[in-house]
Amino acid sequence: MQLKIPFMAKLKVVTYGHPSLREKGKPVKKIDGFIRKLAEDMIVTMHKEDGIGLAAPQVGKSLNLFVVDISPIEKNAEPMVFINPKILETYGESVYKEGCLSLPGVSEEVKRPSKIRLRYTDLEGQTIEGIAEGILARVIQHEYDHLKGILFVDYLAPEILETNRTVLEKLEEKNRSKKKTTQTASVLV
Ligand SMILES: [Zn+2]
Repeated sequence: MQLKIPFMAKLKVVTYGHPSLREKGKPVKKIDGFIRKLAEDMIVTMHKEDGIGLAAPQVGKSLNLFVVDISPIEKNAEPMVFINPKILETYGESVYKEGCLSLPGVSEEVKRPSKIRLRYTDLEGQTIEGIAEGILARVIQHEYDHLKGILFVDYLAPEILETNRTVLEKLEEKNRSKKKTTQTASVLV
């Protein structure tokens, strides 16, 4: 008898102000059914949200895992899963306008290395080491930051951050009211 593949689900992406975005990811110890399902659901979520990258903390899971699919920009690209990644070396410099699914309405230029040497484990458990450049290097570095609790707005100059203040405060407020509800509920039980 053949087992049915579980239905892939779209996950909820948390936004700016949610505590999960500031937590450090924990290493993935074993690539089991849970990790495979999480990675697949994250790919579905990234596609549905029109993103080109999504990190586990963005779906409320503090794990060192992210997914990338740059096919909207580079035609032949395929979805990739990065588990326990480590950037070993960086080269050069480039500026690119970034956005983030956790920061809807914010898009600004960020300076980052243009090329990276990276080691990671794929979904099959294979260790891969290689060089990434261009848009792939950009997305990997953005997602890698998520695993360390860093957001791209952390790099912005105060005057640029100021122009986005209203949007950021609205997002924070939304998450603050959610936290209050949770706290009240935990006091009651
Ligand atoms: Zn992001």
